[in-house]
Amino acid sequence: LEEITIDLLRLCRAAGAVFVKGKVIGLNTSEQKIFLEAKAPLYYDLLSLNIGSIPDSSIKGAKEYAVALKPIYPFIKKWRGFLSLSAEGRVVIVGAGAGGVELGLSIKGRQRKASVTVVGIELLPSHNKMAKSLAFKACSDRGVKLITGEKVLEIKKNEVVLENGKVIPSDFTILATSAEPHFFLKNSGISLDKKGFVSVKKSLQSVSHPNVFAVGDCASFEEKGVSKAGVYAVREAPVLFKNIESYLRDGKIAGFKEYKPQRSFLALIGCGDNTAIAVRDFWALRGKFFWGLKKWIDKRFMSKFLSAIEMKALMMKPSADLMKCTACGGKTGAKVLYSSLAELKGIKVKADDAVFLEEGSLFIQSVDGFFAPDISPYLLGKIIALHGFNDIIAKG
Ligand SMILES: Cc1cc2nc3c(=O)[nH]c(=O)nc-3n(C[C@H](O)[C@H](O)[C@H](O)COP(=O)(O)OP(=O)(O)OC[C@H]3O[C@@H](n4cnc5c(N)ncnc54)[C@H](O)[C@@H]3O)c2cc1C
Repeated sequence: LEEITIDLLRLCRAAGAVFVKGKVIGLNTSEQKIFLEAKAPLYYDLLSLNIGSIPDSSIKGAKEYAVALKPIYPFIKKWRGFLSLSAEGRVVIVGAGAGGVELGLSIKGRQRKASVTVVGIELLPSHNKMAKSLAFKACSDRGVKLITGEKVLEIKKNEVVLENGKVIPSDFTILATSAEPHFFLKNSGISLDKKGFVSVKKSLQSVSHPNVFAVGDCASFEEKGVSKAGVYAVREAPVLFKNIESYLRDGKIAGFKEYKPQRSFLALIGCGDNTAIAVRDFWALRGKFFWGLKKWIDKRFMSKFLSAIEMKALMMKPSADLMKCTACGGKTGAKVLYSSLAELKGIKVKADDAVFLEEGSLFIQSVDGFFAPDISPYLLGKIIALHGFNDIIAKG
């Protein structure tokens, strides 16, 4: 898992950015505010949406009885739980696109005793005929059962029901259906396309809100042919960086960089047996070379990020820049605080942890000045509240 994981916390720290771990559940573009699950909201001047997509879960019972392939961490947790109980179970993958087929073949490659079925309306709907027949052959070679031309009507606890009435028994049902937008975008006030993805200009800015950018799967371009694929998301990143930089510097994007999507791309679908199917435009081939190529491309991409271990070493290195905790040095000294407060008119100042606002009143006030370390505003708020309470307790 480490090979395919980017440690965001360490990456953000190394880049001098604040990482807030949380799930975004709402966006209000008129108040420039994002809502987080079980955390205080965050306000923004500029927002960049890079939230990807989620698998279509509109099939009856999908949310209750199937495990979505994205987000990946909850999926991996549930998959490992399933494997610890049985390595020979019946796995059904709903969705026969490149993701579903690749996953089915990979599972079969690792869990040879498991029965794997991939079911979908169409096999590799975004790819050419040659690719479809190579994928069909790979599935039959590897013992992956393919059911195409059939719509799934309902997902139940231990079965997948097709529209033709056929029932497929399943111990673990995976949702690898088409990419859908996040629900919370709907009421955000931002312009969306017909499906609900964020409509963006060539500058990667929202067509309705210039201070909101969107890239990757969550963005929708007027230009046709931008697939929901990582290769597009990756090439959008340098354009996004440049345009955000201009926007922050000039308040607008003067002479912005235009994102020009590539006409087509080489898709590489792993077959779980050290071969991969390579597809581009009207041709497709399967072989070991393409699996080697896929691994090389992916490893090269990952090596651009500091590995978790390298980043850890960087964090351990004593350096003034990396020392995040300023300990007691983070507090404004008593003398500075006292003399600053003394300048305020109409306020009686006493050098104490906290003071009663009026004689005999129960209102206590505590004032302090803090250096704000680059942690989340929520955590900073918690530290400040705790500090305030400590002062009040110290007052007795
Ligand atoms: C099995 C499979 C195989 C694939 N293989 C390929 C391939 O070989 N080549 C290729 O080009 N593409 C491939 N794709 C497609 C590719 O994964 C996506 O197009 C790509 O990841 C999109 O990048 P993104 O940055 O837009 O979104 P993602 O990579 O999905 O990243 C979105 C990020 O946002 C976070 N996030 C999501 N929702 C929230 C929220 N509410 N709050 C906070 N954070 C949130 C997620 O945790 C994640 O970190 C594959 C997809 C699948 C499912």
